[in-house]
Amino acid sequence: MIEWFIFELLSLSTDTAIEPMSDDPSVLSTPADPDPAGENLDPVAISQAQFHRAAHYISGLKAGLIDFFNVPKRAVIFRFPVEMDDASVQTFEGYRVLHSRVLGPGKGGIRYHPGVTMEETAALAALMTWKCALIDVPFGGAKGGVVCDTKRLSAGELRRITRRFATELAPVIGPFTDIPAPDLYTNGQTMAWIYDTYDILHAGRNNRPVVTGKPVDLGGSLGRYEATGLGVAFATERFLSSELIPGLSGFNGARVVVQGFGQVGAVAAQAFHAAGATIVAVSDSKGGIFCEQGIDLAQAKALKKEQGTVVGLPDSMTVTNEELLEIDCDILIPAAAGDAIRADNAGRIKAKLVVEAANRPITPMADDILAAGGIHVLPDILANAGGVTVSYFEWVQNHANEQWDLDVVNGKLKRKMQTAVDTVLARYRKLSDTGSGESATGTTGAPGLPVDLRTAALVVAIERVSSAALERGIWP
Ligand code: NAD
Repeated sequence: MIEWFIFELLSLSTDTAIEPMSDDPSVLSTPADPDPAGENLDPVAISQAQFHRAAHYISGLKAGLIDFFNVPKRAVIFRFPVEMDDASVQTFEGYRVLHSRVLGPGKGGIRYHPGVTMEETAALAALMTWKCALIDVPFGGAKGGVVCDTKRLSAGELRRITRRFATELAPVIGPFTDIPAPDLYTNGQTMAWIYDTYDILHAGRNNRPVVTGKPVDLGGSLGRYEATGLGVAFATERFLSSELIPGLSGFNGARVVVQGFGQVGAVAAQAFHAAGATIVAVSDSKGGIFCEQGIDLAQAKALKKEQGTVVGLPDSMTVTNEELLEIDCDILIPAAAGDAIRADNAGRIKAKLVVEAANRPITPMADDILAAGGIHVLPDILANAGGVTVSYFEWVQNHANEQWDLDVVNGKLKRKMQTAVDTVLARYRKLSDTGSGESATGTTGAPGLPVDLRTAALVVAIERVSSAALERGIWP
């Protein structure tokens, strides 16, 4: 079905045409795409399954709104030629998906990766809608990407791809309509090029708020780079203080494992360590390292900078990324790619708490296996919402032409993360009290399964977006 959908859009959008997606929710569902454990790993199917599971717990949610939130509001496919360094011409494909604009302009990163697909972009756009609603910033959800391998591109090629993509994107993004940010393999430089291109096309007004995650000189916020990792730590600390996990009420003495030692993982590891935790293992795409007494994070960072990997750190034991996930620890933080914890390895996770610093690192079957084993999961839309929170702060600063001090940014970030955790915990307790799997409407949410934190977080987010949609009124 998805192949048909993409073909239709391609044939309609030879030049940035915008087509609404079909109202048929099944249009975005691919046929089952099982992994070896028989699990459907299609990102849209997973996103829709999580949405429907939460929607069951919301009383009075109109069926028409369920249909509306089930698929993106708009999805665009761009195809554009770029001249390469060797004078050849290569055609690239890019996407921008706007899932919802009910609470405000679309907000979401742009990813450069050979594995970028429309399905993944659509699933991540929906995730952004719920994340923005939960953390309470006035944005809808969006996401974008270009299918390309940045490791094989020169700086000049990357600049030409970005400027051409930004030119194609210009009609659909804007400071009040849809605001991109960096994501995997894009960064402040990418945002600077997008801002500059957009500014040339829309001269004579303040265009800084068109993208966030910019270099500080161009209006980027202090603290944006660290925001997601720091937010992970703020959220986890608040969650642990609720004493939901027996014997683990704070960071002091906690043994922590971090998969992915990049922008999010390395900052989170540092923040956990500074608050008294012992980081016993970290990893990157080339492998992991383990040290019972605690990894020397400064040394690991220096080694990663020098050699491109943490593997080989003196006094550490090398482990594979699969082995790393299964280390006996208190807190496991997947901070790398999606689908890291699946049905085939979830049963071997020994952590008491899994904190989703990455987007979508746990599949629905793995969620159920972890829950059955009594392992709580702090879900991505809560745990890693610090990034979009400080992106929102950047947007506000840009509109006001201000630059906030770092302690102001971090203070506001901490309060946002703590409030969101408190809200999710309150809803989790309320839903759990109403009985396992029994929804507010009296229908069965997930028969036989206890409510989990992901479902509670989604319930809060979906309620906020749906009531805003009704308050605005259904046009006309
Ligand atoms: P990054 O590129 O800075 O770091 C990713 C790290 O993961 C790198 O160390 C890389 O080597 C490692 N890695 C990649 N594949 C791996 C694998 N299969 N196993 C182990 N390690 C692997 O990216 P980032 O900005 O830190 O983002 C990490 C995750 O957090 C992504 O899922 C991203 O979508 C999510 N996220 C990021 C932000 C943000 O502000 N950067 C915000 C919200 C969510």
